[in-house]
This record gives sequence, C-alpha cells and structure tokens, in this order.
Amino acid sequence: MPDQPILDLHTHSNRSDGLDTPAYLMTRAKQLGVDLIALADHDTTDGWKESFDKARELGLGFVPAIEISTHSDVETEQGQRRISVHILAYRPEQNNKRLVHELQRTRDSRVSRAKRMVELIERDYPISWQEITEHIRPGSTVGRPAIADALVRAGVVEDRSRAFDSILHRTSPYYISEHSLSTVDAIKLAKEAGAATVIAHPLIDFPAGKSLYDLPNDHFLEMVDAGLDGLEVEHRQVPESARQWLREFAFKHDLFTTGASDYHGIGGKVNELGENSTTVEDFRRLIQASSGAEYYLPAGLEWL
Ligand code: AMP
Ligand code: FE
Ligand code: FE
Ligand code: ZN
Repeated sequence: MPDQPILDLHTHSNRSDGLDTPAYLMTRAKQLGVDLIALADHDTTDGWKESFDKARELGLGFVPAIEISTHSDVETEQGQRRISVHILAYRPEQNNKRLVHELQRTRDSRVSRAKRMVELIERDYPISWQEITEHIRPGSTVGRPAIADALVRAGVVEDRSRAFDSILHRTSPYYISEHSLSTVDAIKLAKEAGAATVIAHPLIDFPAGKSLYDLPNDHFLEMVDAGLDGLEVEHRQVPESARQWLREFAFKHDLFTTGASDYHGIGGKVNELGENSTTVEDFRRLIQASSGAEYYLPAGLEWL
C-alpha cells in the first residue's frame, strides 16, 4: 500500500479537447504509476464508460467527473467584466435530466461559437470549418484547441500554445464566448445532481504582481454560498502568488483543496499525468461531498 498514492483528479480525453481515447488515457496513467485518475472532459460524460471499464481491467482507481463551462460577472477596476470559470463536478448522476439538458445546450453553443470564430479567422488565415470537422471526433465537445490545431496544420502558428497566445486569445478580435450557465447556477445544479464541486484552476488569469487585496473575495463567497466544496490549488497554471490566499480561503470556509494535472494528451498541452496529486485526506472529503455516480477503487487501494 503506497503511503502517498498519486491521485490525479483532472484529465481530458478525445471526448472533449484531449488527444487520447479514454482507454488509452487509463493505460498511460497506469504505465506512469498514477494510482487513481478522474476523467473531467468539458461539458460531457461521454468518456466515462470506456474509462471505467479500462480502469477496472487495469486495476486503476477511477472517478467520473465533468468540467463545466460557466461564466460570472465580476467587479473590476474597469467596471463589470464577464469571466469564464470552469467548475469540476465529481460524481454527478449521469442521467440527471437538468444536467444532461444544460450540458447539451452548452455543447451545441460551443459548436456555433467555434464556427463563428472560424468564419472570422478564415477571412485572414487559410483555415476552414470543413477541414476542422474532418479532424475532430464526431460528438466531442468542441473548443478553441480544435481551431488551434487547424492553425498549426495551416502553418500559421507553431503549436497550440502560440495560437492561444495570439489569434485565439480572450482579448483577440476573433474571440467569441460560448453560452454557458452562470457559475452559481452550475454549482447549484451539480450539487442537486449529487456532485462534489471544485473550481478548476482558480485565478489563472490573475495578473502577477497585483495586490492580494484585489482578489475577488465576494465572487468566491457567492460560490461558497451556492454549495462549492473545494478549490483546485495544485495546478501548474494557478499563480504561485495566489496559492496561499486560496489555501487560507479554503481553510476559513471549510473547503478541501485538490491537485491535478489537467492533462490533455502529449502535444495537447505540456501538462503531464500525475504531475500534481490530491492528498488522501482531501480525496476522502471529496468522496464524502458526493453521492451521484459510482467511483472505483482497485484491490490495494480500498483503504482510501
Ligand atoms: P475553450 O474551452 O474553447 O474556451 O478553450 C479553452 C480550452 O483550451 C481549455 O480548456 C484548455 O483545455 C485549452 N487550452 C487553453 N490554453 C491552452 C494552451 N496554451 N495550449 C493548449 N490548450 C490550451
Ligand atoms: Fe481543455
Ligand atoms: Fe479548464
Ligand atoms: Zn481541464
């Protein structure tokens, strides 16, 4: 029994914007010595079954999850600003009617939004929606990574990251946002569906060097009131300068904290499986905070 098992609670497959099939993702996690993995594809549960079956076969721990796209309107120095917030929902009931409906709505909107972005971009760069659809798995949750890959294939940029830093950036004239639930409504819905709720990579856009007094305390309090359970603090994109504030906020409001890779496949993003882990204590709290879909602990990990 490992003293400190590696529990990687945030990964993606090709059911959204990751590159690996769910089965290969599980296989690779096992090979790398990860003990338990959560699949958290954007706005879909489509990869759960294949992952669950493969994890069982391999003796790998598995927790089904979703990364829900949401938005919040927050006060900033420049007035109100709409920000995108990703909420990780662990173990929601897969067939919860309202949740299924809202996820479908967001995925549909992601398609029309991606199409509209491509319409703008193709005026200036040689990409097309037709070519993009030939490269994505039908039914997968579409995001900017699919457009980034097209820009790479067209030789416009060298890799996904460069596309995100320029043409696909939030502040780019080509950027359009998708329809999504408000963050508070998404948390309430996920709780109704029996999920444990965690803010994915909080404060990744927080400008380095800004005073901690500027942190959006009120926004975080609203999420706690809605039923938030935890914060993903150990994530490579969460600024070091914000981590202590997040840990203290979690302690004060009785939230757990998690660690995860947010792996998207080799070449999808630099994030590697198992590069961060959630502690046993925090994992137990996550399980206690959720009551929907089943999870799986293999022989040797039952003590978890
Ligand atoms: P979207 O959901 O369409 O707004 O696109 C955001 C998604 O793109 C995130 O969930 C990440 O998975 C991915 N992403 C963001 N930045 C990068 C990057 N620099 N390289 C690769 N993928 C990224
Ligand atoms: Fe993603
Ligand atoms: Fe995310
Ligand atoms: Zn993610």
